[in-house]
Amino acid sequence: MSSEEKEPVKTICPYCGVGCGIQVMPGDEPGDMRFMPWGDAPVNEGRICIKGGAATEVVDHEDRLTDPLVKEDGEFREATWEEAYSRIVDELERIREEHGPDAMGFFGSSKTMNEENYLLQKLARRYGTNNVDNCTRMCHASTVWALRTSLGAGAMTNSMEDLEEAADVFWIQGANPGEQHPIANSQYFRQAVLEGATVIQVDPHKNKTTRSFKIDETERHMHLQLNPGTDIPLLNVIIKTILERHEEEPEAGWIDEQFIEERTEGFEHLKETLADFDKEEAAERCGVPLEDLELAAEKYAMANNSAIFTGMGMSQHTCGVDNVQNEINLALVTGNLGRPGTGVNPLRGQNNVQGTCDVGAMPNVLPGYQLVDDDEARQSVEAVWGFDVPPEPGLTNVEISHEAGESVHGLYVMGENPVMSEPDGNRVEERLQELEFMVVQDIFMTETAKFADVVLPATTWAERGGTVTNTDRRVQRMRGVQKVHENTKHDFEILCEVGTRLFGEDGGFTFEDPEEVFEELRQVCPSYHGMTYEALGEEGIHWPCYEPGDEGDQFLYEESFDTANGLGKIEGVVHQEPKEVPDEEYPLVLTTARLEEHYNTGTMSRRSPTLNRQHPENFVDVHPNDAERYGIEDGDTVTVKSRRGEITVEAHVTEDIVEGSIWTTPHFAAASANRLTNDVLDERAKIPEYKAAAAEIEVGIEP
Ligand code: SF4
Repeated sequence: MSSEEKEPVKTICPYCGVGCGIQVMPGDEPGDMRFMPWGDAPVNEGRICIKGGAATEVVDHEDRLTDPLVKEDGEFREATWEEAYSRIVDELERIREEHGPDAMGFFGSSKTMNEENYLLQKLARRYGTNNVDNCTRMCHASTVWALRTSLGAGAMTNSMEDLEEAADVFWIQGANPGEQHPIANSQYFRQAVLEGATVIQVDPHKNKTTRSFKIDETERHMHLQLNPGTDIPLLNVIIKTILERHEEEPEAGWIDEQFIEERTEGFEHLKETLADFDKEEAAERCGVPLEDLELAAEKYAMANNSAIFTGMGMSQHTCGVDNVQNEINLALVTGNLGRPGTGVNPLRGQNNVQGTCDVGAMPNVLPGYQLVDDDEARQSVEAVWGFDVPPEPGLTNVEISHEAGESVHGLYVMGENPVMSEPDGNRVEERLQELEFMVVQDIFMTETAKFADVVLPATTWAERGGTVTNTDRRVQRMRGVQKVHENTKHDFEILCEVGTRLFGEDGGFTFEDPEEVFEELRQVCPSYHGMTYEALGEEGIHWPCYEPGDEGDQFLYEESFDTANGLGKIEGVVHQEPKEVPDEEYPLVLTTARLEEHYNTGTMSRRSPTLNRQHPENFVDVHPNDAERYGIEDGDTVTVKSRRGEITVEAHVTEDIVEGSIWTTPHFAAASANRLTNDVLDERAKIPEYKAAAAEIEVGIEP
């Protein structure tokens, strides 16, 4: 068929969680394809950011893995699929026999489909372990924990559409949609702002969100540029101000007494927590004038509808659960939940990080967030699967990594890159070498795959079909064009083959296609139960969709919360210092974030000429006062050090970052922020503290 006769294929952008629809136009040769806009795509209506427009660039990249590789005497050599599969099955069986099933860990991927992550977590559980996790552990595990515990579901309470139409105040804390979710920012949020909505940004770093709404240039919007790690005291000042003003003007509507009375519990605990709280001292700790915080409290509380957006600046702390709980507290006391234009809304990172969690690729939950230690829920899943699931939660991915060479002897990695994505990357590399066996299935030879014993060449996002779930719970179908390299396989095919070889023809891994996997997923995931591929069509459906015909919910909790007693949980929280604070040796606070033009570990974006041209190398932002003290000029080469490593990068002297803190990114292999970050974890959600570590700068050291 010539290219004129070919039809473009409608699919979903492989990068961020906004879930923009795009089209891929196949050319005459298998690797020959180009991006086309999808004019009436449900989320983005044809608009696209730089990443989405460049997404096809990496599909036929010269670095693609094209054949299975096995390691022999420390070197990779090409192998047949038969040899690779045999080695995987032999090693997985050996490890289970010698050490037990919990000696294996399984990493799912938010860059792969719901069906593939569903199969991976089923594979882990059929093998006999709940040691399965995905990269949500690094981004929003604490958010999911707090939302699930206090409201019911670990997801956005509202949707981009209802927020655009109804929100009067956008409270954006520790998130940067201008950079990370460009189409949500430019399409939905900007429209709301054009129609009069106010933006209150809480972030130590000025960024594209600040600039896109000209936040610093207006009186309507505010940027509360706090010191890293002071989100709890900042929100406590906001909440205490609202409570105080309510005492002075009980009729003014500072809090929603009826909502608190009828729909929440724990308000007294919050009041007790804040009884002796000193607002002035807290404002000083935050580095933000108290009157600015009081004005922000007034803007949030007195608006008709205020919506909170929360990002990794909140979640990636050892107090990440408490950070998000305090956002929930603010929303609950003001009644800003359960109706359009309100809520607590995590902006999810990758195009399928929401779905990867939904389908159970986490150590404590089965599909649909059913707890593995809830006997009734577990047994209902076991009845469909036909085998027993271990009743105790497994290890999270960072815990699996910490245990490598100790209790964990093998690792199965689908599309993840922990050497780059986990904190303290130098130690991750050391620990991976302690493993007896590791298999990686991916599209490129990642920094992690180099340590594997078997590497399986997978197909890319553009070559295969399935479903993904975006940041506002919309499940959408991806569709593939033909394979670029004949000897690659879809992750779906690989997992079915490994599962069938391990557990036999009746082992639950003989699926014809992803749709058949989705049909089984529906049986064990209540919030997806009403969906079919046909019903998803081109529009997709927001979960929950319990029965066929349900249209899905734009916003959650209209009548009650999805907690055991239907009440939203308020719980006062207090400031906790980051686990590593500045001292004489490391006197600066290092904080990290991402760039619009790159994506997480950069596996794809660093190979995209269009994206890499924008930012070919890492850099560090340094405040002018700090630069003067260190004798740093803009553009100087500097070495940034922490107790865990060092990177050499260019210094950008800018007031974008607060004094005393420095800011850099994790995308670049040779100089990733994660060579420096601290791998201490939030006790409950086990998310690492990427956002605050002690650091030092040395000047004038050339790479
Ligand atoms: Fe892709 Fe996100 Fe950009 Fe949309 S906003 S095109 S989903 S990267």
